[in-house]
Amino acid sequence: MHRELSDIDRYCAGIGYSGPREPTLFVNEVVRLLSELVGRPIRALRKPERPGDILHSLADVTIAREKLGFKARTPVREGLAKTPLRVEKAFQDFTKGYSQDAAQILKSAVFDASDYDEMVIVKDIDVFSICEHHLLPFFGKCHIAYLPDKRVVGLSKLPRVVEVFARRLQIQEKLTTQIAKAIESALKPKGVGVVIEALHLCVMMRGVEKNNAHMITSSMQGRFRSDSRTREEFLDLIRRPKPF
Ligand SMILES: [Zn+2]
Repeated sequence: MHRELSDIDRYCAGIGYSGPREPTLFVNEVVRLLSELVGRPIRALRKPERPGDILHSLADVTIAREKLGFKARTPVREGLAKTPLRVEKAFQDFTKGYSQDAAQILKSAVFDASDYDEMVIVKDIDVFSICEHHLLPFFGKCHIAYLPDKRVVGLSKLPRVVEVFARRLQIQEKLTTQIAKAIESALKPKGVGVVIEALHLCVMMRGVEKNNAHMITSSMQGRFRSDSRTREEFLDLIRRPKPF
């Protein structure tokens, strides 16, 4: 019983399991345990990659804790009574990207552009994501460029692709690469470059010395990787102030 409680606690905290068992096995066990205690199947995300990636209803966990005789740490006051449900709803929104398909979004708006072969850039796309280590937001701007190879994509689709991957539990490095790879595989351009500049609340809020440093990540594919002039042109264009 003790082990089960601590498993649920770690699961609640979204902390990865590092014991001898397989992570997926651990997740399945906890999901099964929670479902049994609550008396109905609990929701899990569609493509869990690690224990912390599966979000469940905090309300369900509260029920499970009660059934195990686990006393609430603090008496529930009015302001907190619906908080588990609100948090669950918010996190469903923060992680809705798991049920969206970037390839499908891109392929729905690919156009022929045989006579255009210059760089296409969309800059200053707002990014809001959740750090998978602390479940705290990181947010900033994303800049995307690609060199078309006879095909271009509708401009509104690029921010949507950012959204698909940002609305998941993430780390900024992986988010950057996933956006670049999705554009590369759907559009088969001559090259893709993605830069994300973001502030992380898990860094800014914690510790005595507050840190406002923002993190910059980039993913360069094709010509953006092999040709320094292409890369420089992209970086130069995103550094320029907005003309209007
Ligand atoms: Zn973090």
